[in-house]
Amino acid sequence: MSKRKKHPNKHIEDALRFIESEGWTVELTKGGSAHPWANAKCPYNRRSCRNGMFCRFGVWGTPGNPELFAKQIRSVVEKCVVHKQEKAKQAQKGQ
Ligand SMILES: [Zn+2]
Repeated sequence: MSKRKKHPNKHIEDALRFIESEGWTVELTKGGSAHPWANAKCPYNRRSCRNGMFCRFGVWGTPGNPELFAKQIRSVVEKCVVHKQEKAKQAQKGQ
């Protein structure tokens, strides 16, 4: 299991575990009111992906609507172009 510190909100923690299981990296920041709680990054270091708006984002410690924010975190994985392509490749290999 990940040794990452848990997010204080259960919905967001669940969403973070989901994206980590899909290969995303969740890096905790030093915090502070002007910084997100963590930065989440897509696993693919590719131009088509990095230039997309969905592949790197800040995870806020206390979002106004945690359930909605958790949904947005999950949708990041679904919207990653490269991730979709990689999944399709794996499916073709019969995995
Ligand atoms: Zn991506």
